[in-house]
Amino acid sequence: MKLLVTGGAGFIGSNFVHYLMYNYPGYEIVNVDALTYAGNLENLRSVEKLSNYTFVKADIVERTELEPLFKSGIDAVINFAAESHVDRSILHPDIFVRTNIVGTQTLLKLSKDYNVKKFVQVSTDEVYGTLGETGFFTEETSLAPNSPYSASKAGADLLVRAYHETFGLNINITRCSNNYGPYQFPEKLVPLMIKNALENKSLPVYGDGLHVRDWLYVEDHCCALDLVLHKGKNGEVYNIGGRNERNNLQVVQTILEELGKPKSLVSYVKDRSGHDRRYAINADKIRHELGWQPAYNYEDGMKKTIHWYLSNKEWMEKVISGTYQNYYKIQYKER
Ligand code: NAD
Repeated sequence: MKLLVTGGAGFIGSNFVHYLMYNYPGYEIVNVDALTYAGNLENLRSVEKLSNYTFVKADIVERTELEPLFKSGIDAVINFAAESHVDRSILHPDIFVRTNIVGTQTLLKLSKDYNVKKFVQVSTDEVYGTLGETGFFTEETSLAPNSPYSASKAGADLLVRAYHETFGLNINITRCSNNYGPYQFPEKLVPLMIKNALENKSLPVYGDGLHVRDWLYVEDHCCALDLVLHKGKNGEVYNIGGRNERNNLQVVQTILEELGKPKSLVSYVKDRSGHDRRYAINADKIRHELGWQPAYNYEDGMKKTIHWYLSNKEWMEKVISGTYQNYYKIQYKER
């Protein structure tokens, strides 16, 4: 199997490349990534010299950059490449439309033209919008995205669906909840809070801190994607989630307790515009149809994650550039 992984230098993509190299040593993996601020080849140091792994720096929007790869024969595509940070989508929505929608269209067209056997679109539960205090998103829940990020992901999902309906492309769409684990860029909640706590800096929490997310250890997401890639039924959507609902304050408290830092480091900052209140996933379909089970509970997964960042402080230092520092200052003005 020759597999094209897009966005494989990012957080989940790089974890998935490691997962594939370990579990499928006979596969040929081609990793295409534009290396935006979120793409980091440091994440892939241990696999880069393996003979069945190739990295290609390319932009998924640009057909000319990708076509030679498709010409060389690709069995399946798994599309992680995206602009992925909601806050950045509020500042620069146009980049999200370009990469997430136009980029997906380029990949779909090439997959159709070169008879790719399977296309997996890695999407998010955020396309469903927000929930009240009860209930869960199922695969039948209507799409009601509230941020430019989630709207661009929903647009991509609809294109993927259309390529199945119109051209018969063999596709799956996965919609996963919030991931945490190694190699996550420290603009996202978990690594940001770990980094700030280690430096005894304030931990910026949006609004009242009671926004609820379902949390899943990234390796469990990779296992789910493995099942979808190999056994997913043509045309189906699969929700992925761990039934680990926690609000942001609870996540921050877990980190402070594990690192032995005081709660006084928490600082409340102005809430994000259009901030969804609660996401919760019903993942019964992938459990029943494909036999997926998460291996990590929230406590164990978080401990493992925190200790990974503790042991990889050098990695953290390397990914934090001057550009990131400026962005961070604009984004997290204290109340
Ligand atoms: P990330 O931001 O860490 O990585 C995205 C990667 O895509 C980076 O390596 C970046 O360089 C690359 N990229 C961006 N624009 C590109 C372009 N035009 N061409 C080629 N490569 C480009 O994101 P992540 O958190 O790893 O998320 C991966 C995917 O999973 C995304 O599609 C995201 O929507 C989805 N997802 C993420 C989560 C989560 O909790 N992080 C949850 C559910 C779904």
